[in-house]
Amino acid sequence: MLKVAPYAAQAAATSGRVHREPAAQGRSEFQRDRDRIIHSSAFRRLEYKTQVFVNHEGDLFRTRLTHSLEVAQISRSIARQLNLDEDLTEAITLAHDLGHTPFGHAGQDALNACMKPYGGFEHNLQSLRVVDHLEQRYGGFDGLNLTFETREGILKHCSRKNALQLGAVAERFIKRRRPSLEAQLVNLSDELAYNNHDVDDGLRSGLITLEQLSTVPIFRRHRDIATQEFPKINGRRLVHETVRRMISTLVTDLTRQSAANIRAQAPKTVDEVRRAPALIAFSPRIEKQQLELKQFLRINLYQHYRVARMSSKARRIITELFNALLAEPKLLPPDFQVRARDDKPRAIADYIAGMTDRYAMLEHRRLFAVEPV
Ligand code: MG
Repeated sequence: MLKVAPYAAQAAATSGRVHREPAAQGRSEFQRDRDRIIHSSAFRRLEYKTQVFVNHEGDLFRTRLTHSLEVAQISRSIARQLNLDEDLTEAITLAHDLGHTPFGHAGQDALNACMKPYGGFEHNLQSLRVVDHLEQRYGGFDGLNLTFETREGILKHCSRKNALQLGAVAERFIKRRRPSLEAQLVNLSDELAYNNHDVDDGLRSGLITLEQLSTVPIFRRHRDIATQEFPKINGRRLVHETVRRMISTLVTDLTRQSAANIRAQAPKTVDEVRRAPALIAFSPRIEKQQLELKQFLRINLYQHYRVARMSSKARRIITELFNALLAEPKLLPPDFQVRARDDKPRAIADYIAGMTDRYAMLEHRRLFAVEPV
């Protein structure tokens, strides 16, 4: 097994799993977590869940699955350079979006609104709920029984109220501590990946244009460098030559700045990392440029009227499904009816959150269409 730095999470010294199991053979505990996530059904569903564009809008747009794989590529390559645990980094990455509803953020907002009187809905908490409870594959326990370190990394944010209920995995939100460097890294790699692939998907969709993007300094600079090197390229090739340079600049900056922070703080153990300020970070200059790009995408892509139309439809589908199932829980599939006996709204939220985009649309038609489905 590859040796990691003393400040990295240590697989051999894991804080363990909720249900005791014999040690993993021929792989580390974090590798075993990663493997369990890949074999879960929630992971396979990511293929048909929206990132920004709904799955049926085009075969080439990112889905939650390809997004997660891109984040894994970025976070693992940085983890290796910083001597962090690559397997833990990958495990957290592949699980980070498991709790997402169908239809991206529009779906999450709609389900959260429906669940307001019943404790709310938050996709990040739901990712933890998927790996802790909802996957049903093992004889001895519900969920995937992952290590503390992977679960800690999945739980990116958490209110004090929820933290008090979740116990040890959420303790850091009460004690105001940081998670492992691996978890910090996944968080920033997620942002790095989606800012760049949303530029690419946005251009591919025609909702934003190269001219518009040229008003964003980080994009313009890298486009100019690409055209200097290849004066004759345009279209998709120019987009890719620009985006790959942006990713490279951001990855290099994140690696360098984080390495400098780690050197300055010199944590000797992961426990010292948890007590230190956040060490995985972009330099202030690049952070600012990335923020400009993010703002551009928010205004010009995420709020584009064609995205807004799909979001509005998604809100209606989720809200109508929720209300129909809440009024008549006997419409739920049998296993969810059993769960609904304990907590009806939560069982319905789990059912809806687990749907892929197309399953949600089909289920909506099954419940509401007058003509046969
Ligand atoms: Mg993500």
